[in-house]
This record gives sequence, C-alpha cells and structure tokens, in this order.
Amino acid sequence: MHTYSHEYFMDQALQLANEAVDDGNHPFAALLVHNQEIILEAKNSIHTSKDITRHAELNLVSKASQLYTSTQLAEMILYTTTEPCAMCSGAIYWSGIKTIIYAASATHLDQIAGKFLACHSTQVFKNALNPPIVIGGILEHKAILQHQKYWLNL
Ligand SMILES: [Zn+2]
Repeated sequence: MHTYSHEYFMDQALQLANEAVDDGNHPFAALLVHNQEIILEAKNSIHTSKDITRHAELNLVSKASQLYTSTQLAEMILYTTTEPCAMCSGAIYWSGIKTIIYAASATHLDQIAGKFLACHSTQVFKNALNPPIVIGGILEHKAILQHQKYWLNL
C-alpha cells in the first residue's frame, strides 16, 4: 500500500477549502481518512445553508457519526485546514475520532480574521477523558496564505 503523507491529505483539504469559497462560504474544509483513503469530505457551508453551525468539521462529524461507529471512527484521522473551534472540537470528541491534524492554528486565524473565538482545541480537550491526539502546522504556510487571501483580500 502506498503511504501518503499528512501534506498530501492536507493539500486535498486546502483545495476543498477553495471550493468552499467558490460556493460562497468561508475557506475551511475537512477530510476523514481511513487506511490512507479519503472516505468523507466536508466544506464550510454557513452561508449556503443559512446555518452558522455548519463548520467544515461539524459537517464532517455529523456525516461520519451517521455512517460509522465510534470504534471505527477511533481508527480514522480527521484533517482540517484550520484548528477546530470549541464547537467542532466538542463534536469531534463526542464522535470518537482520536486523531486531528490541522494546518493553520486558531491563533493564526485570529490574527488574520480578527474576530474569532480564540480557543485552542487542546484547551477544549484539557480535562477530557482520553483526549484525541492533535497535530498542527501541516502545510501551515499554505493555509495562512489562503486565509490572508480571503479575509484580507490579498
Ligand atoms: Zn468549528
């Protein structure tokens, strides 16, 4: 089996986040990967669904938890272009997904967009029983550029 890198999957997620912008939504996307295969993908859809809770990760977790058990989800990796917010971190926790990989951090987003809930996903998981593993900074520069382009019109 060919082994893809975290960068490979993150690049796919970043392309999907561009599609979210093309759709008229915010530049965020997430993927669910199992055994080196993308099994689900989701984009931010807050504007097109007229629902402020439709973050990419929440859209992904909602679909995933209808299709898979928490035992199955524990074996999967969630890739997201930006560190999950408090709402999405909570949803990921309840789904049973145990590995989260992101590109830009909540701090980066806050610095660029300037109006966000500055909360690291690890703060949400601080008191959790069996917290997920969280790895940040994969293709971080690319995600930062994407946010700068969108929020600062660069
Ligand atoms: Zn969120």
